Amino acid sequence: MATILQTQGLKKYFGGLYAIDGIDFAVEEGELRCLIGPNGAGKSTLFKLILGSYEPSEGRILFKGNDITSLRPHLRIQRGMSIKFQVPGIFLELPVEQNLRIALQRVYRGAALDLELDRMLELIEVGRRREEPAENLSHGQQQWLEIAMAVALRPAMLLLDEPTAGMSPEETFRTGELVKRLNASGMTIIVIEHDMVFVRQIAKRVTVLHFGRVFDEGSLGQIISNEDVVRIYLGKV
Ligand code: ADP
Ligand code: MG
Repeated sequence: MATILQTQGLKKYFGGLYAIDGIDFAVEEGELRCLIGPNGAGKSTLFKLILGSYEPSEGRILFKGNDITSLRPHLRIQRGMSIKFQVPGIFLELPVEQNLRIALQRVYRGAALDLELDRMLELIEVGRRREEPAENLSHGQQQWLEIAMAVALRPAMLLLDEPTAGMSPEETFRTGELVKRLNASGMTIIVIEHDMVFVRQIAKRVTVLHFGRVFDEGSLGQIISNEDVVRIYLGKV
């Protein structure tokens, strides 16, 4: 299996502290990786470095074997990265399907676009509400709509930052199934998540961040049997 993402000695300094303090992190093609750790551990900052919203203070980032450390974010997206941030970015007043069209129009036209649109609506199970404004959707459905927009162009790698925030247990479970479905279609996915029920539902390999460093990495079983992880993280939940 090929490594799709790799960081080498990655650091990010915010006048006063290293939010990311030397991270060597690698994800294989097709993986579904969970990223956990206490508040302030550096998880979101790591995502912003990977996507290029932040420039690292030190270190390198490789994507599909190429050094992308200095590449602008939209060029990283062009090379197959996509992200759904914590804050939703859908157009609430526009119909559900119009939101998806906007995402799809960057690549598709005509019949191909309509086909992809139907595929997306089916994926997130909101087909019956396609003509309603997005603001009519439940909180969970709005999050799924945004995930659909993030995967509309079939990225090789998807980053999800706390996709289940504010969701009911039922919506959280369905989000887990959606993430697993996307991963089964071949997409590499990295998920930041603090809901351990969700992590248990989807987890294969888990990375624990703490104070901007990789604190532990392994199967969920290995992670939760590490007393130090329990102490810094799980113990607080
Ligand atoms: P997490 O997502 O794991 O909760 P973050 O990556 O958001 O953590 O934050 C890691 C640390 O970096 C925190 O101490 C946070 O206050 C700090 N931080 C994040 N972004 C900035 C910023 N833009 N300017 C200054 N400090 C920041
Ligand atoms: Mg965060």
